Amino acid sequence: MKAIVVERLGPPGVMELQHVPVPQPGPGEVRLKVEAVGINFADVLAVAGEYLTRTRLPYTPGMEFAGTVDALGEGVTGVQVGQRVASLGGRGGLAEYAISPAAALIPVPSTLTAAQAAAFPVSYFTAYHGLKTLGHGQPGEWVLVQAAAGALGTASIQLAKALGMNVIAMASTEEKLQIARDLGADVTLLQDDPERVQKVREAAGGRGVPLILEVVGGKRFQESLDMAANRGRIIVIGNASREQANLRPVELMKRNLTVTGLWLTSLMQDQEATREAAQVLTPLVASGQVTPQVGPTYALEGSPRAFQDILDRKTTGKVIIEP
Ligand code: NDP
Repeated sequence: MKAIVVERLGPPGVMELQHVPVPQPGPGEVRLKVEAVGINFADVLAVAGEYLTRTRLPYTPGMEFAGTVDALGEGVTGVQVGQRVASLGGRGGLAEYAISPAAALIPVPSTLTAAQAAAFPVSYFTAYHGLKTLGHGQPGEWVLVQAAAGALGTASIQLAKALGMNVIAMASTEEKLQIARDLGADVTLLQDDPERVQKVREAAGGRGVPLILEVVGGKRFQESLDMAANRGRIIVIGNASREQANLRPVELMKRNLTVTGLWLTSLMQDQEATREAAQVLTPLVASGQVTPQVGPTYALEGSPRAFQDILDRKTTGKVIIEP
């Protein structure tokens, strides 16, 4: 079968299209015929060797994908060959066939295309945990969403609105802000607006923002502290700038701030939190109240271009690769 293989870490150009054997599912695993792969910033960082965990080589990227179940490993029950599913936490998605733990499968509502299904798990579960599980967001509260036109950003705006929250969206271009407005953002601001700190504080009733989903990091993290309300919660979800941030804990005291980290991979092990998220997300997506935003779509051989376009901030919504 065709697969993208990474033999050494580096820029997107290290990804090669190769012919490799079809993988076999182990105990508790299933094999999927892959129809669409959702590319996350984490995939880009992993290929670059800059992710939270070390990547063992050689490997095929792709942790989030949708397709039909093609073979069952030993001991798998409750899943049928031919069933349409998405996988959150599988491996080797950038290939014609890929393996997922059966426990990581999510049923796909019939209303979703394969690309929408592949755009769903990581961004929406992360958004839910940021807004609710860890962020404790309440209806009527303001939330600041950074990189608002991206995969996580668009998911966060839609979900926050569906949960009755008010959204301030930030992004780097006017086109990206229009996407945020189209999804229901109440206030939009260019990331480089010279008066952004003051404008964000004013938008949220002059008192600062009670909840911030922080994905950019670096100097933006310091700004998030300045934008937060008294007793504000800042959920650290990403570091897209790849810059270091300075945190002097004493600064948190001034406005009684809480800074909480969020990593979906480790939160997924909390079965109760995952079940609770699924209970909210599944009906919202099945009813069309939230719609996974499919961004630019590439063929398997276009994977290096897709990864480079994410790094260059050219993409909006979830980048999809169709093997
Ligand atoms: P996106 O589709 O949002 O793409 C990344 C976006 O980051 C860009 O579009 C860009 O938006 C923004 N960005 C800001 N500064 C930079 C910079 N210096 N270089 C490149 N991009 C920049 O990706 P994802 O939805 O996959 O991820 C968004 C963030 O959330 C990432 O930081 C990712 O690591 C994180 N994440 C973390 C998870 C977790 O479990 N902790 C799970 C999912 C995502 P703009 O141009 O508008 O600034």
